[in-house]
Amino acid sequence: MLGLMQDWPLLCHKIIDHAAIQHGEREVVSRSIEGPVHRTNYREVRARSLKLAQALERDGYRLGDRIATLAWNTWRHLECWYGIMGIGAVYHTLNPRLFPEQIAWIMNHAEDKLIFVDLTFLPIIEAIADKVQSLEKVIVLTDDEHMPESKLPNVVAYESWLNRVDGDFRWKEFDEKTAAGMCYTSGTTGNPKGVVYSHRSNVIHALVSAQPDALGLAANETILPVVPLFHANAWGISFTAPMAGAKLVMPGGRMDGEGIYEMLDNEQVSFSAAVPTVWLMLLQYLEETGKKLPHLKRVVIGGAACPRMILQKFQDDYDVTVFHAWGMTEMSPIGTVGSVKPQFSSLTGEKRLDLQEKQGFAPFSVEMKITDDENNEQPWDGRSFGRLKVRGPAISSSYYGGDGKEQFEEDGYFDTGDVAHIDKHGYMQITDRAKDVIKSGGEWISTIDLENLAVGHPEVAEAAVIGIAHPKWDERPLLIIVKKAGCEPEGKDILKFMEGKIAKWWMPDAVSFVEEIPHTATGKIQKIELRKQFADYVLPTAV
Ligand code: ADP
Repeated sequence: MLGLMQDWPLLCHKIIDHAAIQHGEREVVSRSIEGPVHRTNYREVRARSLKLAQALERDGYRLGDRIATLAWNTWRHLECWYGIMGIGAVYHTLNPRLFPEQIAWIMNHAEDKLIFVDLTFLPIIEAIADKVQSLEKVIVLTDDEHMPESKLPNVVAYESWLNRVDGDFRWKEFDEKTAAGMCYTSGTTGNPKGVVYSHRSNVIHALVSAQPDALGLAANETILPVVPLFHANAWGISFTAPMAGAKLVMPGGRMDGEGIYEMLDNEQVSFSAAVPTVWLMLLQYLEETGKKLPHLKRVVIGGAACPRMILQKFQDDYDVTVFHAWGMTEMSPIGTVGSVKPQFSSLTGEKRLDLQEKQGFAPFSVEMKITDDENNEQPWDGRSFGRLKVRGPAISSSYYGGDGKEQFEEDGYFDTGDVAHIDKHGYMQITDRAKDVIKSGGEWISTIDLENLAVGHPEVAEAAVIGIAHPKWDERPLLIIVKKAGCEPEGKDILKFMEGKIAKWWMPDAVSFVEEIPHTATGKIQKIELRKQFADYVLPTAV
């Protein structure tokens, strides 16, 4: 017997329809690439997305075509997304922080036919356009007035291209399993891999991630996604904010402490989301200027482990509640969020921070397990480490073109490549990437724990830990430190600071100071590069 409910396909453009109907006047405010702050609303965004869909169709783009974007978070980027998806074409966000050759490789792999590009990134496309065989046309996200000279043959300004149609258009109809978007993971091993979202997975992810124990979004919120649209759908906020009818504030290209502060303050932002490095910059700016955050109530921090110091400062000094979250491009991206379950509601001080330092628990639709190297499930006791594996309706079932098959298991689980433990209450804590964990005498040492502890030292700006070969223990930890400007800590001071806070055998064998720690395009510490830099390093304990 079948249920007798209507067949209402879960299509992404229904989200912007809903926003326009129910929350049409709700603002979308952006810092434009040209400079001034731009104001529009959901009704307008929908109307212009429809025009964009019409213009695409007029130019011959169809269901399944891949259409790239290389752009910061602005209203125009949002219009591109909904317009592209509205004809069943596939938005493909490119990360401008990648090397131009990598961008060209990814565009060729995805066979992008058209690209929408910010003014700032046009030179990148000019440099690689002749290497991307599939690319037919370049649309620069600006108006005629700001349109620069370009040597490219088929390049046009967005506003005049859009204004050639009248907007009298209806979204196309297609199956909810149709591809909606693509995003390549940075591929710390091998080539980047293409994650392909469907309309259905995006809508389900938005429904799930808007829940109170996940992002908890509602019409009365003002949301600033610092996290870019090209980083796993801005953690889904590009769908959740219009679905909830929240005011949306887009930071454009300015990610520095002052730039973010201005948008937070001027627009009275109540909720924001970013990686730890962005928050470190903001906190530093606040400390230097003595400014406060009277409107901001909650921040989500993810993409890399959140140091305890960030949790503490936000909550104690600025009265902003922090939600530590974990996810992956392959998970749309939310996997867990560190909301506080009722049994912990009375926790305060250090005990509450202990809980918040964990990445949290999974919302409905994310199933997790941890396994050892022989694929035996490990208990949820908060101690047993294992490879973290996940499954659910907004989690990849394979990569584009069948790459990376080994990460997808027969029982439907995806191997995240992270190492974690889970406690009996369901709280998960990432201890490492599987390839970064240090194996000392057959036991595992978490580099993340050591890094987070070291950055708590007042004279440390950034810390990274890598394993160095050791004749007796196989590997032992080396702590690599960037000093805060004007500070001269000694290695032994930092080790002293860490003593007693971790097991004795986890203590780094040595400390090394560097000017800079290399980062990936998504802001993570580039351990591969660090391992290369320290390939000839000999630990003092090894001689
Ligand atoms: P990329 O792999 O392209 O850099 P992703 O955003 O997909 O970008 O990265 C996902 C990975 O980031 C996770 O597998 C995990 O290793 C790391 N990560 C994300 N959030 C956290 C977090 N809160 N704590 C620790 N690691 C995290």
